[in-house]
Amino acid sequence: MEQEAEVTRSPVRSAYVHIPFCHGICSYCAFYRRISQDHTGWLKQICDQIRKADIRELDTLYFGGGTPSILTEEEFDRIRFLFPDQIHEFTMECNPEDITPEKAAFWKSRSVNRISMGVQTFDDRLLKSIGRRHSAQKAREAVEILRRAGFENLSIDLIFGLPGQTLKDVERDVMEFLQMDLPHLSIYSLQIEPDSVFGKQGVHPCDEDLEADMFEWIIRTLKESGYEHYEISSFAKPGRYSQHNLAYWQDRDFFGFGPGASGREQGQRYHIDSRGQRIPEETDGPFEALMMGLRTQFGVDLSSFREKYGWDPGRRYADVIKRYAPHFCEQDGRLFLDENGREILNTILVDMLPEESCE
Ligand code: SF4
Repeated sequence: MEQEAEVTRSPVRSAYVHIPFCHGICSYCAFYRRISQDHTGWLKQICDQIRKADIRELDTLYFGGGTPSILTEEEFDRIRFLFPDQIHEFTMECNPEDITPEKAAFWKSRSVNRISMGVQTFDDRLLKSIGRRHSAQKAREAVEILRRAGFENLSIDLIFGLPGQTLKDVERDVMEFLQMDLPHLSIYSLQIEPDSVFGKQGVHPCDEDLEADMFEWIIRTLKESGYEHYEISSFAKPGRYSQHNLAYWQDRDFFGFGPGASGREQGQRYHIDSRGQRIPEETDGPFEALMMGLRTQFGVDLSSFREKYGWDPGRRYADVIKRYAPHFCEQDGRLFLDENGREILNTILVDMLPEESCE
């Protein structure tokens, strides 16, 4: 019988701040967000949470949402100055309609050094049908504005499998991304969440075969163009990974601030509710570490895993690894899945779950 070890933790080096305001509600969205002109109470709540954490050093900071680019300069500064000046990677999520040369210069002056922009598609008809408030042209201009302001570490989000979207439409979106020559792309298949506008309207998900064809084309084209498919939904030029997201995928703790945020400290997961309260979440730490690690091309570092949790996934899941043998690889002390294996990760994980969890 393997012995469970006492888990050792290193200090928290990453923080996520959820800015829950939006100009309008996109039809597919199930994030925590609100349309509000008066941000005062929310900002106070977020700032109080950050102050309590008393953070001295940080490697990555991520303002997500919601729509962080909605914040005024004064609102932005109230949050920014609660964090250390020097941060290796400071990402801000933006929507194209908010981006002006003035705002871009301001974010730059506050040491934001990575922008993740929600483009979703370059097709105006589809943008309208999903409730986005920018045009394809505005997205193109926004990228140019950001570049002129000196942002070089840029990522955009695209969605595929939208209602009425064809394979040709997806091909056009990806080709436009490639023409922009950006270092990073996050691309997601549309999920119809029950709480979203689409969910309430009973919109049907994309045909599974079409969605699979789209994803296959996306992966092949991006890889041929020199991008690494380093996580299920993420592609990067060599080495240009999201350092912040790697903290999630590589089993590290991270602070979560703002209503709707998640965090993890001392291995304990939590979320922040709408009143700003921290609600602990029951999770299976080692299983989550495996689940997150196997999403990426880097897999799970077996010796760190053993040191942290006291058991060896290679031994415990030997049966499952054998069942999916062509997809599992072990190299340089890491257990990882090949690309086809990552595509069926959910099926593999179900087989890894203890039997009582499946009842
Ligand atoms: S997708 Fe983004 S911008 Fe749209 S409603 Fe959701 S959080 Fe707001």
